[in-house]
Amino acid sequence: MSADCIFCRIINRELDADVVYSDDQVVAFKDINPAAPVHILIVPRKHIPSLLDMEKEDEMLIGHLHMVANELARAFKIDKRGYRIVINCGPDAGQIVFHLHLHLLGGRPLLQTIAKGKEV
Ligand code: AMP
Ligand code: ZN
Repeated sequence: MSADCIFCRIINRELDADVVYSDDQVVAFKDINPAAPVHILIVPRKHIPSLLDMEKEDEMLIGHLHMVANELARAFKIDKRGYRIVINCGPDAGQIVFHLHLHLLGGRPLLQTIAKGKEV
């Protein structure tokens, strides 16, 4: 838990979010500024600032985030047409929230690279 982290505050229910999945390790909620019809953020409860800060003990957790992404892709019916997982790591990647998260994007053809909610 990091007191000034917006995603920690969502996880601790201090801030509202449209939560679509939750378990003992992960919370997933809709992105406030969606870049696609389905745009869900899959967030570990553990405050890991970025992928670079991942530790050996987090290996299973990172796998679990992807299992949850698959489950949500099926639930939101983007499994057949396909979807994209994005992890932005660091400033050049456009990371703005420094609490590790997967973007799950789908519901339309994603032909371009998506960064910061815009196609480039
Ligand atoms: P990133 O650039 O990978 O750090 O992406 C952060 C994402 O968090 C952006 O797509 C934002 O739209 C999204 N975001 C920021 N604040 C909130 C919030 N309070 N609820 C939902 N999504 C948010
Ligand atoms: Zn956090």
